[in-house]
Amino acid sequence: MTIKKGFTTTTLHSDRLLKPEHGALHQPIHTAVTWGFDDVNGLVDVFQNKAKGYAYSRQGNPTVTALEHKVSQMENGHATIAFSTGMAAITATIQALIKSGDHIIASSFLFGNSRSIMQTMIDMGLDISFVDATDVRNISGAAKPSTKMVFVETIANPATQIADLKAIGDFCEGNNFIYVVDNTMTSPYLFSPVTVKASLIINSLTKYIGGHGNALGGSVTDTGLYDWANYANIAPVLRQQIPAKMQGVSQIRKRGLRDGGGTLSPEAAHSISVGSETLALRLERACSNALTLAKFLESHSLIDKVYYPGLESHPQHELASELFRYYGGLMSFALKPEIDCFSFLNKLQLVIKSSNLGDTRTLAIPVAHTIFFELGAERRAEMAIPDSMIRLSVGIEDIEDLLQDFRQALA
Ligand SMILES: *Cc1c(COP(=O)(O)O)cnc(C)c1O
Repeated sequence: MTIKKGFTTTTLHSDRLLKPEHGALHQPIHTAVTWGFDDVNGLVDVFQNKAKGYAYSRQGNPTVTALEHKVSQMENGHATIAFSTGMAAITATIQALIKSGDHIIASSFLFGNSRSIMQTMIDMGLDISFVDATDVRNISGAAKPSTKMVFVETIANPATQIADLKAIGDFCEGNNFIYVVDNTMTSPYLFSPVTVKASLIINSLTKYIGGHGNALGGSVTDTGLYDWANYANIAPVLRQQIPAKMQGVSQIRKRGLRDGGGTLSPEAAHSISVGSETLALRLERACSNALTLAKFLESHSLIDKVYYPGLESHPQHELASELFRYYGGLMSFALKPEIDCFSFLNKLQLVIKSSNLGDTRTLAIPVAHTIFFELGAERRAEMAIPDSMIRLSVGIEDIEDLLQDFRQALA
């Protein structure tokens, strides 16, 4: 009888089952840039997609392949491509699959740099509409004959809006749109985008999957649900050489990774891979800490508003309960006008003033003055981002210590 493995067991045994040399439990760090072949036919076959193998490390490396395999298992996908960062994965995916004249519908509550790269793509001639993705009717209302792709995040940062993930999946399926879900904020442990019919899943491996703030990485996973055989933008040479199921990822690997060059280093792949072993444990602790802190802050007289999907006051609390295993490690809150946001932050002793998220340590950042500074006061007001908004990425510290820190800083 074979044992049916759960999320963490699968991740822990993933490298070993690929049989690295000497029975190593981790895939070794392969630093080679290139590979040699005794027979030139082997080299030619790799180039012509006739054989699996490695030719040049920009487009494939055994250490990175092992991580790609692991992410595919986490996401229940059929193939993954890793990148140097989450942003590289997003940029490469769009560049590889979208042509001038095509239209993309994206959530208006995107991670700031995702929004910014899409603005750059608009400047280069792509047609991209930004709509409030918490209601599928805004997506369907923006669709055109030229629409090819819909791009959303699960939980938005910093105000934690939740996309209408299921309904958007049905809508994309009905219209043959490529449905891209950025799962970074939830990670595959809290949410499985394949269950809402995502075509491609983006993860910033830098955040929860790597989890320790010590390596950058990103990935795109093909769930196998999109029918690439009927996608107009697949290059004729791939159409001939590669089975339909692999045409989407192959095109992303060639045009996005090989040509774009956002390659994940084997050292970073190894760090992320080791970090990913404790994803479930870390998130259970972080999400439990976050819920406790959110409730504490919501009931505090000096806090104006808390944005956290685990609170009943959150507009999509029920949707979050239905879709996600827990409510995530990220929240935001706004202080009452009588306390100064900077002096409050400076009073915190354990919580670190820092811009990352998904770290094991709790990190806080004043949103209006940093990640949304470039937008200007007017756009921030439109997006309902108050000047005193603080984003908190909750870590795995002992909850009593975090509570003590917030109590003393608010005293
Ligand atoms: C951080 C983040 C990214 C970008 O990831 P990097 O690895 O920092 O490039 C993309 N999407 C979301 C939702 C993120 O939080």
